[in-house]
Amino acid sequence: MLSIEWTASSGWLAPRITPYQNLSLDPATCVFHYAFECFEGMKAYKNSAGDVRLFRPDKNMARFNKSSARIALPNFAPQSLIELISKFSAMEERFIPAARGYSLYLRPTMIGTQRTLGVGPPGSALLFVIASPVGPYYPTGFKAVSLEATDYAVRAWPGGVGDMKLGANYAPCIIPQLQAAKRGYHQNLWLFGDEEYVTEVGTMNFFAAVRDKDTGKKVLMTAPLDGTILEGVIRDSVLDLARERLVPEGWEVQERKFTMPELAAAADDGRLIEAFGTGTAAVVSPVRRIAWRGRTVECGLAEEQEVGEITKRMKDWIEGIQYGDEEHVWSLKV
Ligand SMILES: *Cc1c(COP(=O)(O)O)cnc(C)c1O
Repeated sequence: MLSIEWTASSGWLAPRITPYQNLSLDPATCVFHYAFECFEGMKAYKNSAGDVRLFRPDKNMARFNKSSARIALPNFAPQSLIELISKFSAMEERFIPAARGYSLYLRPTMIGTQRTLGVGPPGSALLFVIASPVGPYYPTGFKAVSLEATDYAVRAWPGGVGDMKLGANYAPCIIPQLQAAKRGYHQNLWLFGDEEYVTEVGTMNFFAAVRDKDTGKKVLMTAPLDGTILEGVIRDSVLDLARERLVPEGWEVQERKFTMPELAAAADDGRLIEAFGTGTAAVVSPVRRIAWRGRTVECGLAEEQEVGEITKRMKDWIEGIQYGDEEHVWSLKV
């Protein structure tokens, strides 16, 4: 693990890479009481040539600093942390499987370590990075997921902190997730407001490909960054690639608010082409159907089909860049 301590008086101390080990913290440490914790999720990829790469680490660093700043934890110079994580990934290179779909999952984490029950800015912090090899999310091919639209619990709201990777945002999602699972659904589809805006699916951003009711044009749409969604690196990458590669094919790309009634109307008219979630873990996750208000909204897949065409192309494009098949500025060779 990579560890860097911080104190308000001395700033960041020297980084260390040590064997994975327990932390020893006083029970009064502020992280245990007031959730001074934020994190990132990223991966190091190795291809058959043995090159180790990070995917858009600058995005993770910017988000990490935004999260830590919001909970009164210190920032870390983005370029320096990229260099440290690169060095760490290179050192642990033996734990990165070279097969396609495999990677080393990296979990940068920051916690407040001051011993105090007083509610205030932590005078000390610890930044650490732990890692684990991970296999392909879909080892036997895509498996489309079924979602339950959740309106009785709200994950994020404008002006809140649901758009940041703060640990405190995740524990409250477990009960709604278990309730959806009990009724046979894989994930929650988080809705927001009386209008039932579609925001995110589980811990992934949500995309829908629809045919526009008026223009007949094919539209790839996702919710905007208005505080109700997490600013996903894969979401941003899908938007960029769609603008670059789908727009010339006649697609429109829209970052806009859309509602569950709107999505259901598209499905009823046969205009919902496909839907998918995006995130670092799975890259893309095809959606088969959404349970909503006692009905089922089918998301465009035929019964024997597990993934739609746009979903599949997006995964191939992004993985091609992550593993360096396609040379791209998003891929940093360490
Ligand atoms: C991490 C996360 C995502 C996906 O972000 P990526 O940077 O694409 O991995 C989406 N939603 C939530 C709630 C998340 O925590």
